[in-house]
Amino acid sequence: MTTIWAVANQKGGVGKSTVTVNLAVVFGQRGLRTLVCDLDPQGNAADMLGLNVHGLPSLCDVFEGAASIADARIFDVEAGVDLVPAGDESRLSGVEQGLVNVPAREQWLSRMLAGQLDDYAHVILDCPPGLGQLTTNALVAADRVIAPVRLTDRNAVKGVNELVRSLLALREVGFAVAMPEVLGVAAEDRLLTVQSSRQQLQMLDLQMFGSEIPKTEAIANAGTEGRPIVLREPRHQGARAFVALADELAPALARSA
Ligand code: ADP
Ligand code: MG
Repeated sequence: MTTIWAVANQKGGVGKSTVTVNLAVVFGQRGLRTLVCDLDPQGNAADMLGLNVHGLPSLCDVFEGAASIADARIFDVEAGVDLVPAGDESRLSGVEQGLVNVPAREQWLSRMLAGQLDDYAHVILDCPPGLGQLTTNALVAADRVIAPVRLTDRNAVKGVNELVRSLLALREVGFAVAMPEVLGVAAEDRLLTVQSSRQQLQMLDLQMFGSEIPKTEAIANAGTEGRPIVLREPRHQGARAFVALADELAPALARSA
């Protein structure tokens, strides 16, 4: 059984790509083959894994019918982790627009993934900012939705509500989409905003992960250097937070790891 995760939040800069790459590496280290599918024209997931994917087959080629998801994979970008690059920014923006004209457009990605995932325990879809066609496709394809949220952001709850509304709209037209599970990203526990965001999120009646990701320079530096913190500084509290999150997402593994 493959679990497909969408890492989604229409806001940029909340940590979607960071969560994607670190989770993928932890899963891979545990012998759970993981496919990362980069849906963001900015290609941050590839950057954060230290890859130069320029000119390689990508999701754009899949959209244009020139490749399958299996063809577009880069194998073993880290142990147990394969990646499908997003493709050039301008080309992937074209896909976003092109999808509008595709029949059953919300399920395009589901169709492309169907039958291609036998090798994988996990597929992680790194969503672009926004609630456009690519994000919608990821939400429809996913079994579970992780929504990283900056607890220091006063509008954090508003953002999650917007995501929930899009998901409810998809449910209304018959898609069995999962509601988001909220992952807090925070700096200071004592900050008033963090506490109030947490309280407001709890009232939304959504799943919230017990693990939170600390906001630390080490995570930011790892991103810039193209080496996820779980590899770069595995003992750092930031790395341990991602390991704890992986334990929470796939509890059966925690003990066998
Ligand atoms: P998104 O994919 O939602 O746009 P990113 O994962 O690209 O967000 O993160 C945005 C920026 O913030 C990146 O430079 C990244 O390195 C940094 N960042 C992400 N998570 C953290 C964190 N927990 N602590 C510090 N910096 C972080
Ligand atoms: Mg991103």
